[in-house]
Amino acid sequence: MITIANYVGGKFLAPAAGHYLDDIEPATGRPYALVPGSDAVDLEAAVAAARGAFPGWARQTVEERSRLLLRIAEGIEREAEALARAESIDTGKPIGLARQVDIPRAAANFRFFAHAVTQFASESHGMGTAAINYTLRDPLGVVACLSPWNLPLYLLSWKIAPALAAGNTVIAKPSELAPMTAYWLGRICIEAGLPPGVLNIVHGSGPSVGQALVAHPAIKAISFTGGTKTGAAIASVAAPQFKKLSLELGGKNPTIVFADCDREQALDGALRAAFANQGELCLCGSRIFVERSIYEPFKRDLVARAEALRLGDPLSEDTEQGALITEAHLDKVLSYVQLAREEGGRILTGGVRVTVPGRCEAGYFLKPAILEGLTHDCRTNREEIFGPVACLLPFDDEDEALAEANGTEFGLAASVWTRDLQRGHRIAQRLDSGVVWVNTWLLRDLRTPFGGMKHSGVGREGGFEALRFFTEVKNVCIKL
Ligand code: NDP
Repeated sequence: MITIANYVGGKFLAPAAGHYLDDIEPATGRPYALVPGSDAVDLEAAVAAARGAFPGWARQTVEERSRLLLRIAEGIEREAEALARAESIDTGKPIGLARQVDIPRAAANFRFFAHAVTQFASESHGMGTAAINYTLRDPLGVVACLSPWNLPLYLLSWKIAPALAAGNTVIAKPSELAPMTAYWLGRICIEAGLPPGVLNIVHGSGPSVGQALVAHPAIKAISFTGGTKTGAAIASVAAPQFKKLSLELGGKNPTIVFADCDREQALDGALRAAFANQGELCLCGSRIFVERSIYEPFKRDLVARAEALRLGDPLSEDTEQGALITEAHLDKVLSYVQLAREEGGRILTGGVRVTVPGRCEAGYFLKPAILEGLTHDCRTNREEIFGPVACLLPFDDEDEALAEANGTEFGLAASVWTRDLQRGHRIAQRLDSGVVWVNTWLLRDLRTPFGGMKHSGVGREGGFEALRFFTEVKNVCIKL
């Protein structure tokens, strides 16, 4: 049993009250670590450390901050294999995915913002011979970064790296369900020589220490990724205190497949978009709109591919579908499969709990489900399920596909599959979606703005958008 500690003021600390929560391995259903159930006392220690470290860190040269972030990236790369294993055990995701995506991306986040901050410039606005304005962008102070369990180190580092690069000190709260790689990050930061108190990681449950962190008057900005309901709760706490807020929330993303697509590419793309990471990605395409003329063959081939996905022990090299994060989440996903039936849907494949023999027999596995026969506006097609459940919907023309694709309260991501590039541009312009992929899915350039519209969030992460978020703007006007 591993005992996780908070990382505060450059040291590993046990929670003051000695309270711990179980960290369950989703593939086995058994606890394998203890996570601090931190409280207000632990939070105050982190606030004191972050406040104390702020003036020194903010005064550091950009080059020095950049150098330290690069050392953290190198530390993650050095320990990539162990981190990938930890991420797989903690979340139930296939180790191959953690190796290919989660851990390289966490290192890339630090490396990217280490470089980006050296290129971050502010504006100057001349007023002829009368005056000149220039813009200052200063660090905010102590900021909070809260992240979910589905991409633990990937999303935590996506927030921490720009916050630190811009000169802020950070208190991070990883999800209590997947805290292991954040714990390791503390050690990597110590080895990298990050000054004590610049980054602090406090573990515990969202409603207790997460909420206290968000509400703390010392916190100047909150960067949160998680569910839409939690985002609304955080906004209601942050708004009266006028804290800067970046919210990356849920999605119910459309995959739109036209008859003229490259069929093999579209099938691969739709399958990956629906079931990558067991469908536990905010970007997953859970509503698959298919032009009616190819609907039947596309359906047949997609179902065959879903049935061929290798489900099993996340630590096995060839596993493509691992376990869902908790039993409660598995039950929630199963309840949506039942709801789909009640709403008149047909289950074409999957949607049942699976027992994986051996060490994983008590794990939380669900056979990926493809549904059809549901209207676009039923609950199954409007609410985020966040599991391996996708619904096929036929359409007759562009306008119908667009109206239905845009017909939810979410607006995070979409993918469009067509050989007609003019149509690709046209649809991209008309989709209510923060990110639109044409003939691809989840292809990311870290310089691009990332985030959602409508109930999928407020603000954008990525590139200079993130550095702008983590700085306070001041206009200085000099009369000439
Ligand atoms: P939650 O909203 O439950 O939790 C996210 C984080 O917030 C966790 O660290 C959680 O802690 C914490 N938290 C929970 N309640 C509060 C609170 N009242 N105050 C402060 N912090 C709190 O999301 P999940 O972890 O269940 O993640 C799944 C959700 O995340 C999905 O809706 C998904 O769409 C969304 N998501 C969005 C992404 C995007 O970029 N738009 C990317 C990835 C996921 P704890 O878990 O310890 O309770």
